[in-house]
Amino acid sequence: MKPLFLNLRTGWFDRSMYGSNLVFAKDIAVSFIQGRYRVNADSNKMNISEFWFDAEFKTGKKEVLTKVLVNQRFLRLKKVVVKLLRFLLLYFPKDKLYIKASGSGFHVYFFLKDCDKETWELFIHHILYRVRIPNTKHVSELTFGLDIDSILSSERKISEIGSWNKVKKDFKHEVNYLNFNTWVSVDKFFELVSYPFCSSSESVQYPLQYECCNMSEKLLREAKKAKSIGTRESSNSLLLTKPSRVLEFKGNIQKNDSAYQLQKHCSCYWNILRNPDSQWYARNFLVKWLIYSMQLEKAEILELINKYNAWSDYEPRITAFYVEKHFKEGTNESKVKRPPKKETLIKYGLCKNKSKRCVYGKLYK
Ligand SMILES: [Zn+2]
Repeated sequence: MKPLFLNLRTGWFDRSMYGSNLVFAKDIAVSFIQGRYRVNADSNKMNISEFWFDAEFKTGKKEVLTKVLVNQRFLRLKKVVVKLLRFLLLYFPKDKLYIKASGSGFHVYFFLKDCDKETWELFIHHILYRVRIPNTKHVSELTFGLDIDSILSSERKISEIGSWNKVKKDFKHEVNYLNFNTWVSVDKFFELVSYPFCSSSESVQYPLQYECCNMSEKLLREAKKAKSIGTRESSNSLLLTKPSRVLEFKGNIQKNDSAYQLQKHCSCYWNILRNPDSQWYARNFLVKWLIYSMQLEKAEILELINKYNAWSDYEPRITAFYVEKHFKEGTNESKVKRPPKKETLIKYGLCKNKSKRCVYGKLYK
């Protein structure tokens, strides 16, 4: 594994997460674990924002991807990425635009200096409006486009260069081949005639370093102008804000059931369980609460989750794998051994009760 750093003296460091967001694969028990977090533009002191675009194809049906299938669809997917790149290249230098081949799709991303949360939102909406690429979420036929829901989520865990698609292959059965996430330069990308599969960790390509782009005054002017004349709002192809959903549980919950305790004082943890789009970090908060406040055992936690969750991507084996990490020494998940603080829940928008009514910052027993 090769560590990657941003061109800052402080390295990749975001205090909002109470520590470094950069995770070395070697420090984590499972090999080739994927991921780092996106920069939280809201509280990152350097005001560096990450723009990240996930280009993919989706059919809306369950299918197992093969290399042949990916290559059959490659040129149409390439068109989507080219469209996005052509727009971004009007404002940013090509050596500071990064592309990753994740196994069947592509990630296009760059880092922008002096970009606060408002500017990030202004830009991301403007770029998506200008490129007019379809959203691949909730489609019912083969669609080439962008996973706009993920792109708009500012705190999504992103698979990093060098990680592999083992979860997709062995747990989710979405692909029949192993592939390592690898870097592709912009020039190389334009030349591609087939999908750049990478089947061994030795052949993974890394950029030499990540460099931030300077603020583009031109893009800023254009985005502000577009906003003031309302072009953004007139675009109904984009659903730009996603209200968080909580599905009602139809059934009786006994008083002696742990799930009852999750609704008793404040429903923040219950909502995490019942929200089909619950983020991974919210699920981690829930597990910490169940372990350190409610003092449940692993099996009890899995039973509770299995019985009551409404997660649209729920997969018992993957959930068990991640819950296990909270009980295992030396993992990222087991570093902090206490329930999440109330302020943390509020900060992440998970608890709406800003007054005293949320008791979940305290120990339960
Ligand atoms: Zn609460």
